[in-house]
Amino acid sequence: MKIEEAKKFHKIDTVVIGAGLAGLGAALEIAKGGGEVAVLTKVYPTRSHSGSAQGGIAASLANVAEDSEEMHMFDTIKGSDYLGDQDVIELFVAEAKKTVYWFEHMGVPFSRTEDGRINQRAFGGHSSPRACFSADITGHVLLHTLYEQCLKHNVHFFNEFQVFSLLIEDDISRGVVAWDIRNGGLHIFHSKALLLATGGYGRAFKITSNAFANTGDSLSLILENGLPLEDMEFVQFHPTGLYKHGILLSEAARGEGAYLTNDKGERFMEKYAPQKMELAPRDVISRAEQTEINEGRGIAGKAYVHLDMRHLGKEKIMERLPQVWELAFNYLEVDGTKAPIPIQPAAHYSMGGIPANIKTEVIKDAAGTVVTGLYAAGEAACLSLHGANRLGTNSVQGAATFGRISGTNILEFIKTVNYPKMVANPLERAQRKIDSFMTNKGKEKHALIREELQENMTGHVGVFRNETDMLKLKKIIKDLLERFKEVSIDDKGSAFNLDLLEAFEVGSLLNFSEVIVEGALARKESRGAHYRTDFPKRDDKKWLKHTLAWKTDKGVKLDFSRNVTIYMDRYPPLERKY
Ligand SMILES: Cc1cc2nc3c(=O)[nH]c(=O)nc-3n(C[C@H](O)[C@H](O)[C@H](O)COP(=O)(O)OP(=O)(O)OC[C@H]3O[C@@H](n4cnc5c(N)ncnc54)[C@H](O)[C@@H]3O)c2cc1C
Repeated sequence: MKIEEAKKFHKIDTVVIGAGLAGLGAALEIAKGGGEVAVLTKVYPTRSHSGSAQGGIAASLANVAEDSEEMHMFDTIKGSDYLGDQDVIELFVAEAKKTVYWFEHMGVPFSRTEDGRINQRAFGGHSSPRACFSADITGHVLLHTLYEQCLKHNVHFFNEFQVFSLLIEDDISRGVVAWDIRNGGLHIFHSKALLLATGGYGRAFKITSNAFANTGDSLSLILENGLPLEDMEFVQFHPTGLYKHGILLSEAARGEGAYLTNDKGERFMEKYAPQKMELAPRDVISRAEQTEINEGRGIAGKAYVHLDMRHLGKEKIMERLPQVWELAFNYLEVDGTKAPIPIQPAAHYSMGGIPANIKTEVIKDAAGTVVTGLYAAGEAACLSLHGANRLGTNSVQGAATFGRISGTNILEFIKTVNYPKMVANPLERAQRKIDSFMTNKGKEKHALIREELQENMTGHVGVFRNETDMLKLKKIIKDLLERFKEVSIDDKGSAFNLDLLEAFEVGSLLNFSEVIVEGALARKESRGAHYRTDFPKRDDKKWLKHTLAWKTDKGVKLDFSRNVTIYMDRYPPLERKY
């Protein structure tokens, strides 16, 4: 295929990459404000991973029990193990309530209390029932409603377009190049503002709750452009992934009262978090489960424990947790009303990502220097709202709220600037990637490289980490990166060339995985989701810092000079106990 044949050119004020809650939230605000905006997404919008969020969206509405922004803020800070930036959290808890009403006014069918208010359920690490929900399909209804509103307000959609390169020069974003999945061919998008809202990237791990599309493409593109990633070592493992599959059984099950039990039938959380029990935060429970499994108290000595919801009764299970029941039944043939369900920790959420400030502008160094016209929001971004560990239902909320905020800021920005000059050879980098896969005669297959990466990431940088394992993993990834250069693909066609798309995605996984490992190796402490058996204590003196990581010719370069924003008079770091 010749570049000329495929070349298509689009000039649009704002381009948003990603049609999850963050991307659509921003696009809607821009369109409603009269701005011109296009959304590019590699999967059909309503198939974005946001749609699989089950449990809920956090806001201190206080509809069923006492609650306040102050309480939500403290819970989030404590949950973050004090690595969350407190100015960001303060803005978040205030805007969270507005976001819920924003959704309600769009027509989202929230589950209701007897007297008609939005119902709220308990979730791990939250001191009050704060999760607004729609049975256990919350993300689904939020995403579909938002998509409808975007269509209504004339947001342009480029569905099934996969971004292959970012056009950044002299710290100014100028647009992107994307591959048209359906027809083949590269398109250039020239824009004043670009929002990266490409979601999570749990697919670097073997056991994960994340969708196939969650491969962190934009993170890899950021690295490729000489920009850093932040706090990548903090990966959340969710306690209730379906055994062997990793498919998520929502925390809503425990929110509604389900138990966790080991081979002896004990509710083992009594030993680890006697007060919060099954509603302790995820990092604490995942470690408890892994300890039970490692010490031989997994069910029948195997690598899983039980989620038991039988005592909730069939009626409640079917009304509040129909999807949890269905997933266990469809994938493991376990009827959750009659038998406990096999579960294990699964890579679930990525706290780190593309560094951005409170206005969602992407920054390029510890001093906070902004890359002009480049924004990031949602799970791909690190603002840092969740610090070292995210609380359940704060993520859907974080994506929607900071998507919305991003939209408002972008709308202001595009009014004040002209189009930046296009780079000299916009297609060059993307074309080079395609050519290398298409013409390479190498024998390596991307699927095998991906499997090796996933297996080793789960094995060596999982719930528990130590230096020996991670040094091994560092070498493995180095080898995989070398082998990746020899990847060739069999499909040489244009339309729906999944071989090409997946090869590109495996490259993304390898690039940012290296950064996860280097960050985890360097951070010699345990904080939130990052737990080192060789450094089991949190060390605020040395490590109450964000990690910034760049990829250079000499390997990964780390910088720990970015401070955490802490209100010392209000929320000084305390020991984290549940
Ligand atoms: C199973 C599951 C259940 C969850 N439940 C909850 C919950 O109950 N509550 C909660 O708060 N959080 C939950 N989370 C987390 C939460 O859903 C996500 O963090 C959040 O929805 C992410 O939204 P997003 O807009 O950032 O990205 P996503 O919704 O993941 O969207 C990413 C978008 O980026 C696009 N994209 C990616 N790469 C490219 C590319 N190269 N080119 C073009 N487009 C690209 C995709 O097509 C997609 O449209 C859950 C997560 C999972 C996996």
